[in-house]
Amino acid sequence: MSRFLLTATAVRDADAVRGNALLIEDGRIAAIGEAVRLRRPGLPERQVAGVVVPGLRDAHLHPVGHAAALHRVSLAGATSLQAVAEAVSVAAAAQPPGTAVLALRLDDEALAEGRLPDRHLLDRAAPNRPVLVVRHCGHIAVASTAALEAAGFGPETPDPAGGTIDRDEAGRPTGVLRETAVAPVASALQQHLPALLPADLAQAVGALAGVGLTGLGAIVSIDQGLWGGRGSELDLVLEAAAELPLPLKVLVIADTPAELRAAARRLQRAGPMVSFLGLKAFADGSLGGHTAALRRPYADRPGHHGTLRLDPVWAREMVRAAADLGGRVAIHAIGDAALSRVLDTFEEAIADGVDPQGLRVEHASIAPPEEVRRLAGLGVTACIQPAFLPSDSPWMEARLGPDRLPLTYNFRTLADAGVPLAGGSDCPVEPPHPLWGMAWGRDRAGFLPQEALTGEAALSLFTTGAAAAIGERADLIGGAPATLTVLAEDPVDAAPIRLRQMGVVATFVDGREVLPPPGIPAWKD
Ligand SMILES: [Zn+2]
Repeated sequence: MSRFLLTATAVRDADAVRGNALLIEDGRIAAIGEAVRLRRPGLPERQVAGVVVPGLRDAHLHPVGHAAALHRVSLAGATSLQAVAEAVSVAAAAQPPGTAVLALRLDDEALAEGRLPDRHLLDRAAPNRPVLVVRHCGHIAVASTAALEAAGFGPETPDPAGGTIDRDEAGRPTGVLRETAVAPVASALQQHLPALLPADLAQAVGALAGVGLTGLGAIVSIDQGLWGGRGSELDLVLEAAAELPLPLKVLVIADTPAELRAAARRLQRAGPMVSFLGLKAFADGSLGGHTAALRRPYADRPGHHGTLRLDPVWAREMVRAAADLGGRVAIHAIGDAALSRVLDTFEEAIADGVDPQGLRVEHASIAPPEEVRRLAGLGVTACIQPAFLPSDSPWMEARLGPDRLPLTYNFRTLADAGVPLAGGSDCPVEPPHPLWGMAWGRDRAGFLPQEALTGEAALSLFTTGAAAAIGERADLIGGAPATLTVLAEDPVDAAPIRLRQMGVVATFVDGREVLPPPGIPAWKD
């Protein structure tokens, strides 16, 4: 039996400080309290200079997209179309002719021109190359002419169901692809991209321990996914399973019940670090890309409501399939129309006997009072991303107008209504740091300060809340897994500005310390 005493400045959860030491036996918490009472002759002691909290979790993260973002060209710092062109041009020059360029994390809102590039810009930057530039939300991309041709996209190509190919006055594609129009081009580029290896994924996941994470709600597609990992995201996760330093609870993006069942079977055989959590589906897109589904039109695009992508019949069948597998269901809903549609689906599922604790709305970015009431009444979890605040708040009023603004990212309203909340980053859409997420949950990057969470609520968002949403327990009680994060300071007492700079001293999963791989960043800007 392995047994040691972990002593710290303090041990705390969102409710209280519980002493300064934990007795850990065979990966589980055996006792909590004061070190002076728990010390025994011969009992090994590990002293850490910091505050022990329940292991921080991220309930919504795309591990393969995250690994891809660390390896592909990043446009995160680009502030003009010229800068985008230069980054693509440099990347193309560094690769052999014929290889494709995949650039991620474009933010057109941060460009001086405030608009997306088109294929002509990419053609000039990298002549005759297949180039795909993906917006940071993953829902919109811009393809070069060669990339469109590789996918067989021309003037005659119809818009796919649930997506749009933007066109010029002559009806030719501009290169801008929205929602389901992205995937065919991304998959046509796969064979021309350098492969992402299992070791790349394992290292990218390991680096997350460095920001304090001990468990992930991992969104994994059975195909190549939104960020152009090569081949199937699920294949890569399974190939990396034995090397993964943190446990992944996998929510599978699949199109049919048969695909979901096949994925679940493979995950159930994958060993201790990977398990099947359930289904991930989409009801709409992003506010940034004008594809989130709104009841009333966008304030800055008259008559446009976005794209509602969730077919009720398909959703019913998929929710049933997930429930039959013992799985959960997480559905992406950013706009109010999408949220309402998801709640209809969940209401029906619950009436059918599905456990509401296994149902999650991802993002719930616009939550009007009626939807807040329904979320609370049904007991459905809202998985929220405070890291969206600094990115989205500068243009939110332009998109939605002043009257809908108070309904966006209304975390406090959701919490006060009793909606179970889980924290996530949606990395690589946003940085994976849970301490930054806690900070933005509290200071909200200055946006709607009345919706700020308390320090306690922010801590539970990324501990007990996120853990519950991925089927784990983060309680500091005897018998619970010793999955813990040690922070340099008390995260509840610390001001948000200190949270953003706070060091992570150590992370433990089931009593075993997880060390991030040296030299691998957790995030690349
Ligand atoms: Zn996501």
